[in-house]
Amino acid sequence: MPKPLVAANWKMNGSRAFVEEFFGAFDLAGVEVDVAICPPFPYLSLVADCVASVASERLSVGAQNASQEESGAYTGEVSTGMLADFGVQYVIVGHSERRSRYGESSELVAEKFSAVKRAGLVPILCVGETLEEREGGHTLEVVRAQLEAVTDFAGNDAWHGAVVAYEPVWAIGTGKTATPEQAQEVHRFIREKLGEAGAETPLLYGGSVKGANAGALFAQADIDGALVGGASLDAKEFAGICRAA
Ligand code: PEP
Repeated sequence: MPKPLVAANWKMNGSRAFVEEFFGAFDLAGVEVDVAICPPFPYLSLVADCVASVASERLSVGAQNASQEESGAYTGEVSTGMLADFGVQYVIVGHSERRSRYGESSELVAEKFSAVKRAGLVPILCVGETLEEREGGHTLEVVRAQLEAVTDFAGNDAWHGAVVAYEPVWAIGTGKTATPEQAQEVHRFIREKLGEAGAETPLLYGGSVKGANAGALFAQADIDGALVGGASLDAKEFAGICRAA
């Protein structure tokens, strides 16, 4: 059985004061799933300290990106080894904002995915189609190609110890959520594509998840949790989503 996970993607939001306020208000009571908080790089250390003070095995720290390289002359980059050094456990790779705004190809994302695994961390691989691709009937083809880029680079064993997040691009930050049935169709497809590892790989849904729609999404057979952007900036709303998982 995949272990359910709800991950908060704070994107480029927050401040020292925000981190302190968030952890002051974030209440894990009634939360029965693993939870990861993925702040911007400068706040990883502070978030790691806050997570340690909560002292719950359920709560951990994630990063939103990492370099595919291990060290060297890569100005502005952050390696997976450095993230591990700061107590990070999860790393988001291939978020649609990185694919579209920073030109990250599926091949580069596959290299990052492998670098995360080499460091002993858990990659959260994001896949998903644009509105145009969905309307053109290409959703499964797009998702298949994004997954195959990883297996082509890292082999079929790649999925052991990984998490996959289905995030339809048209649902991210737009307030439009895929219906539970639309999401389930793609999740089932992803599970099948992952082969033998599919049965144990957590599959998260991401795209305008809120307290109000989380329960219906999590009720689907192949939705094991969520990757939450906007709603994860509100500690109470985010705790409600975690409780629904
Ligand atoms: C995300 O950025 O991964 C995301 C799902 O954002 P939102 O929840 O704001 O749609």
